[in-house]
Formats: sequence, C-alpha cells, structure tokens
Amino acid sequence: MLLERGPFAGSKNMYGGVVYPRILDQFHPNWWEEVPIQRWITRRSTMVLTATQAMTVDFRTQAWGEPPYNGATAYRPDFDHWLAGKAEADGAVLVTSTTALGLLRDEAGRIAGVRTDRPDGDIHADVVIACDGVNSFLAKEADLFGPGQTEAGNYTVGVKETIALPKDVIDERFGVRDREGVDIEILGGTGGVNGGGFLYTNLDTLAVGVVLKLPALGAQPRRPEEIIADLKAHAAIAPLVEGGTIVEYSAHLIPEAGRSMMPRLTTDGMLVAGDAAAMCLAAGIWLEGVNFAMASGIYAGEAAADALRAGDTSAAGLAGYERRLGDTFVLRDHEKLRRAPGLVLSDRVQHHYPQMIANVVERVFRVENPRPKPGFRRIVREERKRAGIGLRDLARDAWAGIRSFG
Ligand SMILES: Cc1cc2nc3c(=O)[nH]c(=O)nc-3n(C[C@H](O)[C@H](O)[C@H](O)COP(=O)(O)OP(=O)(O)OC[C@H]3O[C@@H](n4cnc5c(N)ncnc54)[C@H](O)[C@@H]3O)c2cc1C
Repeated sequence: MLLERGPFAGSKNMYGGVVYPRILDQFHPNWWEEVPIQRWITRRSTMVLTATQAMTVDFRTQAWGEPPYNGATAYRPDFDHWLAGKAEADGAVLVTSTTALGLLRDEAGRIAGVRTDRPDGDIHADVVIACDGVNSFLAKEADLFGPGQTEAGNYTVGVKETIALPKDVIDERFGVRDREGVDIEILGGTGGVNGGGFLYTNLDTLAVGVVLKLPALGAQPRRPEEIIADLKAHAAIAPLVEGGTIVEYSAHLIPEAGRSMMPRLTTDGMLVAGDAAAMCLAAGIWLEGVNFAMASGIYAGEAAADALRAGDTSAAGLAGYERRLGDTFVLRDHEKLRRAPGLVLSDRVQHHYPQMIANVVERVFRVENPRPKPGFRRIVREERKRAGIGLRDLARDAWAGIRSFG
C-alpha cells in the first residue's frame, strides 16, 4: 500500500526540475515513450557568476535527445502521478489524502504499521517503508535519526520560481528546438549566501531558483525571493527570463550533506528511503534526488518482499536493503562524493574561486594594445593573490577536489 497525504501522487512534491529515469529500464523498458516529460536535456551548462561577470562551460549533445535519453525536465505532479499509476498497475494500492501520523508497534515494541488521519486509520503492516521526505517524522519516531539531522549546516533551502514564457521564445533564447531542453547550474549568484542557482527549460515555462545554506541564509537579512530577484537581474540571466510571468513560487528543504548525515536506514519492521534517508545527491554540478528516491524505493520494496518470503522482517531479515544500496549507485555515488558537499559549499569555492576565475578570463581576453599580452601564469598569480587565495589553500583545495570528484 502506498500512502500519500496529498490528493494525488506528485501534488505535494517540489524540486528544481530535472529527472534522470534510467533506473526504470528494468521495470518499464521504453518508459520514454510514455513518461510525461517537458523537455529532454540536450544542453547542459555550468555557469560561474560574480556580481558583474559570467563564465559558462556549455555542453550539448544530440545523443541525449534520443532513446534511451539522459535527463528530462518534468513537472512532479505529472511525473509522480504517472509513476504511482505504474505501481498501481503492478498491484499496489494507492491511498491518497491520507497522512501517516505515527507508528504502530506490537506488544514486543516492534514497528507493526502506521496510524493515519482517517477515522478507521490504523494500517497494520509487517514492513513500513518511510519515504516521507526530508524531516521524516516516521524515521524520527523510530529513533533512526542521528546528529546529522539536527545540524542546520547540513541543510539548504531550495526556492524556485516557475516563469511562463511562450515556447517559441524559450526555443529562440536557449537555442533549442522541439523537445530539446537546457539545464544551467550556477555557482555564485546567491548574493554572498553559500549555495547555488539553477535555470531549467520546460516547454512553456522556466524554472529559476537558488539553494541557500541555512545558517548562512539566517545570518543575513535578505529573503530568498530577493536573492532570486537579484539572480534574475544579473546581466547573464535577465535576457533569458525577461517578459516572463511568475506562475508559481515554491520552497523546500534539501538534505545537503549526503553520506555524512544519513540516518540509520533499517530497524525491526522498517526501512527508510529517499530524502527521509538524506539520499539526495547535492554535489555542486550534480543535484539529483528523484533518481535516488526511486532507486532506494525499489531496493526497499525488493528487500521487504525477500524478508516477507523468508518470514523474518526484523532488522536482520531486512538487511538486503543496505546490501542493495551498497552494491548500486545509491550508496556508491554518495560514498564516492562524500566530501563534495562540504567542498562545494566552502567559502573559497563559493566566493574566492569564482572571482579569481572570472578575473583571469576577463584579463586573458582583454586586448590592451599597444601593451602586449601578459603571460597566463602572471595573470593567474596576480588574480589568485587579489582573491586572497594562498598557495597552500590552492594546493589543499585541489587535493580535496581530486579526492571528492576524482
Ligand atoms: C529547489 C530544489 C531543487 C531540486 N532539484 C532537483 C532536480 O532538479 N533533480 C532531482 O533529481 N532532485 C532535485 N531536488 C531534490 C528532490 O526534490 C528530492 O531529492 C526528491 O523529491 C526526494 O523524493 P522523496 O520522494 O524522497 O521525497 P519528497 O519528494 O519530499 O516526497 C515525500 C512524499 O511523502 C509525502 N508525505 C510526507 N509525509 C507524509 C505523511 N506523514 N503521510 C503521508 N504522506 C506523506 C509527501 O506528500 C510527498 O509526496 C531538488 C530539491 C529542491 C528543494
């Protein structure tokens, strides 16, 4: 049984906008023929912003515009509704407009289902899979949360505006056709608050947003919508969004610290999946949570089915869950990139390097005849000093970068 507090699956879910559905290959080959997406991402840019400069690494490929595709922009109400329909077609019972209020326990104290807000609302179950998102009340009540959950520095708040523009205007501005789409990830542009930004193309809307480190946001006076307004006013972004109408504004917490903040994932009669288990991968150039939520849900379901067949739904009987996570990208990506969130949100990566890189590029391409071109090494040295980056810091960060992403 799938329980959803919203009126339909996807009605409550918020994210930036890009899904990576290849995990569905095993259940629904050719899923791309029916999945309700907006655009297939064929162009992916990484943009470094300072107050007055922008540098973009822009990549595009036709390969991502044809099966089996790579990522796609999609509206969660469409995508999650479709996915829940697939689960129903495969035999699951979907119960909407129903909130799980807490856990049921048997005489031995083992988790044995959930209480809901329906009058006859106790649902007895041998296994509960808590996938109730970041701040999971169920995982907390099961005592699975650790210190990672109470540390504000492990969270960012993501805020997003959906901006309506005619499809032909979006096609023209972003240099795409038909169902081709663009994903722009932004470093800088968050008004001095550590975090990042994004801009994605839907068919006839844009998603523009920022993710902001919670303590840094709280330590300054500006509100997230003011920070988005400044991002939209930046010379590199304004021509892309101008004339659009804001049709939606939304915000949501992101468990940003990955592996280091994950709670315990298994207890007698219960598993934790998706954002409830802090499985969102937020590592600078990657912001992926939906695929991790889908995959961990699949592996939790498989492990639960194995445990039920074996007649042992204790933590030991459910151990197949963590084994599956550990054998696949879910924990492997998190393990590999476990240092990345800290590095990406550090002050030097957020503020000093963007300034240094932008200044170096500005000087390399500035033609100041009759003066001859300065040497590249000299420019880098001068700009490194101007940005206040010591050689030792540079070496340390380079090594951290290799260890984080290498
Ligand atoms: C601004 C922003 C941008 C992002 N961009 C991306 C992106 O581009 N791509 C990407 O892959 N990820 C992105 N993410 C991360 C992504 O949103 C999450 O990782 C993903 O939604 C996690 O899925 P989930 O199902 O675990 O949790 P959620 O999406 O939070 O879903 C939890 C579900 O449980 C339901 N629920 C909660 N409590 C109860 C209860 N007590 N009873 C019944 N139902 C309940 C909710 O209604 C909801 O449907 C972004 C996040 C943010 C905030």
